[in-house]
Amino acid sequence: MSVPRRYPLILNPKAKSERARKAFQFVMENATRFAIYATNTADEARTLACRFKDEGEPVVVAAGGDGTLNAVVRGLAGGETTLGILPTGTMNVFAREMGIPFDQLKRALQVIDEGNVEEVDLFEVNGTPFVQMAGVGFDAQVIEETSGELKKVLGPLAYLLSAVKVLGDKPPKTTVTFEEGQTVEGVAVLLGNGTLYGGQFRLFRKADNADDLLDVVVFKEAGLKFVRDTLAGLARGGIKADSGTVEYYQSSGVKVSCERDVPVEVDGEFWGRGDELEFAHSERKLRVLAPEERGVAWWEEVLKTLAPWTK
Ligand SMILES: [Mg+2]
Repeated sequence: MSVPRRYPLILNPKAKSERARKAFQFVMENATRFAIYATNTADEARTLACRFKDEGEPVVVAAGGDGTLNAVVRGLAGGETTLGILPTGTMNVFAREMGIPFDQLKRALQVIDEGNVEEVDLFEVNGTPFVQMAGVGFDAQVIEETSGELKKVLGPLAYLLSAVKVLGDKPPKTTVTFEEGQTVEGVAVLLGNGTLYGGQFRLFRKADNADDLLDVVVFKEAGLKFVRDTLAGLARGGIKADSGTVEYYQSSGVKVSCERDVPVEVDGEFWGRGDELEFAHSERKLRVLAPEERGVAWWEEVLKTLAPWTK
């Protein structure tokens, strides 16, 4: 009989939600399966993951929401260590993207034990790796102030509403230059590695996080029409390229220049402000333990239920 493998597990013990409490309980009940490392800040989680990578650890498990996960991804970037995920957050965007069960930790642990490795693209903004998406011109601080429950209900609406608030008065002129040569102008830009944005919404309808391409949505104008178009696009299963206020591109690398400093968010976390942003493919892909089949298109159901009120 073989002894089950014991994984280093990075978690944030301070997470206070009901889900986090249950997750902590699950980890404790399965304590023989993990070497548990509690980290208090994202920076600690990143540093620890980076150390495991440098030591050649084959697998590191991140137990947490998107914040903890992103920190661990940043630490593992550029290495061979494979990421396992126990999704315990509110949104679990990347776990959903990869088809990892986000509501059943027992199943999520099975996925880790099954050992199927998927290699996904990592992109960087001015050197900071991200795995799911990034946004230029969106006020991440508004999102941070939004409570977890409200975020769960509003999802991407929280982002869009904050964008309207920020862009409303006088949106900064933003120039997007694609590595392929084309240049376009807009007021805000969203960049997707995966299809999902802000939880369950398939904003980047053509995205494939293993095709070496970044999907880029350029918003041509601010205001209510922009929000309406975007919502209608989401309800149809993704942003349409020809909606007038929104343009859709795919590119291997993008430069974004703004006429003044704008807020930038990376994987849903506030990254900082900048006026010259370079998005590039990371040197190496990220290895992730995930189901071989990404499973049912469950978000189609969500979109169907949303469709009536976005008409
Ligand atoms: Mg892609």
